Amino acid sequence: MGSTWPRTPLMTNSWVERKDELQALARTVDKSIVLKTKDCWFAKFIAVFAGIFMDKKSFVEDFAFTTANFQFYHESWTYGQVLTTILHESRHTRQFRWFGFGIHPLVGVPLYSIVYLLVPFFVGVAYMRFWFELDAERFSSREELKRGISTPTEILARVKRFGAVVCSRDYFWPWPAAWGIPAFERMGRQVVEEVG
Ligand SMILES: [Zn+2]
Repeated sequence: MGSTWPRTPLMTNSWVERKDELQALARTVDKSIVLKTKDCWFAKFIAVFAGIFMDKKSFVEDFAFTTANFQFYHESWTYGQVLTTILHESRHTRQFRWFGFGIHPLVGVPLYSIVYLLVPFFVGVAYMRFWFELDAERFSSREELKRGISTPTEILARVKRFGAVVCSRDYFWPWPAAWGIPAFERMGRQVVEEVG
């Protein structure tokens, strides 16, 4: 079942102050994970590319992103925001590791990036991008319930909201919303039923 994780009273504190604690949580999923703020050159470099497809300011401030074992969160995020995102991002690190043949998440970067972005096609039917997000959200929903980080009500609301984001411009329309959002809702109900 895993240990429970403190929800209060520090949910609104800066995550940066508790970076070591959050990194330790992420490392229960993959021991290689390193947390970074978004003021480094690599995060700025990625933001330039993301800015071609979506609002750059929103990408920088509202979205976390993961490349292999490195996870990037904006400096302004609260502990609570990172706590309820980090298990999703940590699952992406695992996905990188799968594509790195279990050796290291960094080994998986070329293959995972191609499959995530382009299979079978960049926009409209990027089913693998949709599937990786659904898988990461299923994993984080299950873990957050088990560890007492989120309640079933919070999970059900979030999967619906996140499903809509995944099927939008923000993820460059990987899958039709009419199918994608119900798939996220179904996943949420299954996880809640399973974990309770
Ligand atoms: Zn994701």
